[in-house]
Amino acid sequence: MTLLTDPAAPTACPSDAAPAPDFGNATGLVCRECGAHYPLGAAYACVECFGPLEVSYDLSGVTREQIEAGPASLWRYAPLLPVAAYAGTEPNLQPGMTKLVRADNLGAALGMTAPLWIKDDSGNPTHSFKDRVVAVAQSAARRLGLTTLACASTGNLANAVAAAAARAGMGSVVVIPSDLEAGKTVTTATYDGTLLAVKGNYDDVNRLCSELIGDPVTETWGFVNVNLRPYYAEGSKTLGYEVAEQLGWRTPQQVVIPVASGSLLTKVDKAWRELTGLGIIAESPYRVFGAQADGCSPVARAFADGLDVIRPVKPDTIAKSLAIGNPADGPYALDAVRRTGGAVASVSDADIVAAIRLLARSEGIFAETAGGVTLATFQRLLATGQASRDAETVLLNTGDGLKTIDAVSGVVGPTAVIDPRVDQVHEVLAPR
Ligand SMILES: *Cc1c(COP(=O)(O)O)cnc(C)c1O
Ligand SMILES: [Zn+2]
Repeated sequence: MTLLTDPAAPTACPSDAAPAPDFGNATGLVCRECGAHYPLGAAYACVECFGPLEVSYDLSGVTREQIEAGPASLWRYAPLLPVAAYAGTEPNLQPGMTKLVRADNLGAALGMTAPLWIKDDSGNPTHSFKDRVVAVAQSAARRLGLTTLACASTGNLANAVAAAAARAGMGSVVVIPSDLEAGKTVTTATYDGTLLAVKGNYDDVNRLCSELIGDPVTETWGFVNVNLRPYYAEGSKTLGYEVAEQLGWRTPQQVVIPVASGSLLTKVDKAWRELTGLGIIAESPYRVFGAQADGCSPVARAFADGLDVIRPVKPDTIAKSLAIGNPADGPYALDAVRRTGGAVASVSDADIVAAIRLLARSEGIFAETAGGVTLATFQRLLATGQASRDAETVLLNTGDGLKTIDAVSGVVGPTAVIDPRVDQVHEVLAPR
């Protein structure tokens, strides 16, 4: 028998001898609360204080030229992500580089005197920004030898995980609340992984997935937003990088971001701080605004009450993709909003529907309910004077209205149902 302290003992396990997986410029994981350091792996919570872990990097030497020489997808930002240098060989769906659309008609309707832009992430492979986070988490899963991609989802993540796993020949296990829109469940099921519809809300789903970590059945699973969450979350930075690059390497003065767990909001801010720190963009003040639905507004509530802690709520809103009652990154989202002089506000389901219709008729963009939340919240922030009409603004449209068609199907429809006869067309078009 060999004592563990025996200096002559062979190194403990064979994996010690295997080459370290290549995570590019990432150097480790660090606790956001106490700063404890951990090696890169499928870890997400600090063993000292239970704080969330975040990827740390050595980004010195990353340049604008290096990024611009990359592919026309989010992999152009590989030097700023916990992924290997882009080789073009990974079987993923190449998300990112979605359109930044100048929205002059909408700007005029809102009384803007400064430019207004929509960053339209419905153009991703499965029609939401979740393809970004999954691409990065999947890359980590493959490097860590995990063969099944799993997640707890409010719908869009389900689509992105099932599609990415299908393309890479991985298994997938997607866990969702059973009351999601058909546009999300039917699409996910068609990618043909395992789809578990749970009788409960997202917070129940998330708790179930956390309880499954460590269960022998999940040994080879990477839950993209649980045990791979540090990598997943970094994928959201690419939305921030892209906005800056597409504006000609600068930040807008205001950005409005829908908030579910709050991760996306914190990472857009992180992206811009990184680019500024590296000298890739000039430092220029920007204000980060968060958008929620009244029926699930724990972060907006905490902001209004001047609190640092988030009181969990039971969600009840048509904006199901944002229906997280106990948002993991809520406190960090509040920090980013307060530090930049922004705000978090919420809007009613009726406001959300009206905003979906306003965006569609003014710009030809059909957003999902989360996009309606973002625009309606911006309208509210303009009305209260918390946001400014003379500051250049980017609104993030994070998903596609075709997945949440029920939100508007009861309030829009044919102008008239007619027989195929010219006189009936005349009748419909006649002034009344
Ligand atoms: C998931 C999601 C968000 C917000 O994500 P968080 O990072 O959890 O705040 C926003 N919009 C859509 C459409 C989403 O699916
Ligand atoms: Zn800690």
